[in-house]
Amino acid sequence: MPFGRAGARLAGMKVLALLMAVFLWLLGGLFFLAAAAPEAAAAGKVLPRVAVGGLLVACGTVLLVAGLRVGRGAAAGSPGSLDPGGRTAQEPPGALGLKALTCPHCGGQADAATVKVGSEGTMTVTCGYCHAVYLVQEEPKW
Ligand SMILES: [Zn+2]
Repeated sequence: MPFGRAGARLAGMKVLALLMAVFLWLLGGLFFLAAAAPEAAAAGKVLPRVAVGGLLVACGTVLLVAGLRVGRGAAAGSPGSLDPGGRTAQEPPGALGLKALTCPHCGGQADAATVKVGSEGTMTVTCGYCHAVYLVQEEPKW
């Protein structure tokens, strides 16, 4: 199931981004603590440490926002939108147009539910009355 695999991968990316964000926040917090230490003021390292700490926290925040966006995108996306070439391509293009088809052999109404798509994209429909199988073009003329 491709959707499940993609969802798991997105969830993994989200967890990774959140973990990285927490890690960067902790590291940034350490720099803030170091900046507040008395020896930092004595050595004149308060500003650089605050700058680095702020940068780390900012990076962590960006990662968190990105991670949340990934999660939201996965939740909002439907299986169809994530797998556009799969089920949609298998659907008969003229399925809706088959509603009022009549069998050229017996005049009965062909059932759209009997439409089958062949390996080369050809469509066949089975008459519900005489059970004859007909090849259907994309724009049926009968
Ligand atoms: Zn028929």
